Amino acid sequence: MSFPLAGNERIKAAVLAAVAEDRIPHAILIEGDKGTGRHTLARFLSEAAVCGGENPPCGVCRGCHLAQTGAHPDISVTAPEDGKKSITVAQIRALRNEAYIKPHMARRRVFVIDKADSMNEQAQNALLKVLEEPPGDIIFILTAESAAALLDTIISRCTVLSLVPPEMPEAEKYLKNSSDYTDGQIKSALESTGGNIGAALEILGGGGTAAQTAAKRFAELLISGDEAQMLKITAQFEKSRVLADEFFKELKLATAAVIKKRLHSASSAKALARFYDRLSEYENALQTNANLSLLFCALVCSAAEISHN
Ligand SMILES: [Zn+2]
Repeated sequence: MSFPLAGNERIKAAVLAAVAEDRIPHAILIEGDKGTGRHTLARFLSEAAVCGGENPPCGVCRGCHLAQTGAHPDISVTAPEDGKKSITVAQIRALRNEAYIKPHMARRRVFVIDKADSMNEQAQNALLKVLEEPPGDIIFILTAESAAALLDTIISRCTVLSLVPPEMPEAEKYLKNSSDYTDGQIKSALESTGGNIGAALEILGGGGTAAQTAAKRFAELLISGDEAQMLKITAQFEKSRVLADEFFKELKLATAAVIKKRLHSASSAKALARFYDRLSEYENALQTNANLSLLFCALVCSAAEISHN
């Protein structure tokens, strides 16, 4: 799987080397402004840490699939609870207890702490104890807008990755490759956000790339099985393998979200899960010379089967 961030070349080299040599640091702090890719990088590292394939994250093994859908039992994410601004000491204590449980299927456990800079001193001190003496093979990934709000004792235990917005040409190239917006639209969105890709995407499309938006719309059609609409949506991705690849990735995420919502209905959840497995097969077929039009036809056929259940 390719590195998911634009620019940040030194971080890219360091992360890829660490992953390839299987020496991901045990505590990583990813800091950067909103939109610089903190969560994207945290997801990439978590997936790599639990991947059971060659060249992690391979993107196709069971560990990677579960990580992509947020269902991996060895990855736990701690963030401020709904409606709250900060992570509480009780949440960190719960995390500490969980750290003593052996991994379920991966070689190690991953604890992601989102908005780590929202922890008060008490919570940070509670975390420090387990950072200093982790009870097993554990990787902690903290994300924060700025490391400044964290105790020096926490920072000194972490490998700090400071993300910066990429140079303008790199950001432009990244968006041109991953979205359908015109060069002019991309340029003006990036200029008004100082090259911040996440913020530019929010301006461009109400928060997503063309592949994301299309995948969400496609997933919404899974239950009704409207084939004509599905074919319309996929048509735009038949011309480029890169775009098709991105569409399949986004569709897996969108499908996983639909499955979560439909768990109350066993038969449709089952059919959706079968469809999800098919998506991985199509994704693999993309790596070969498979004809894109045929591949999308097959996709729409499988999607339409769900509604026949
Ligand atoms: Zn994998």
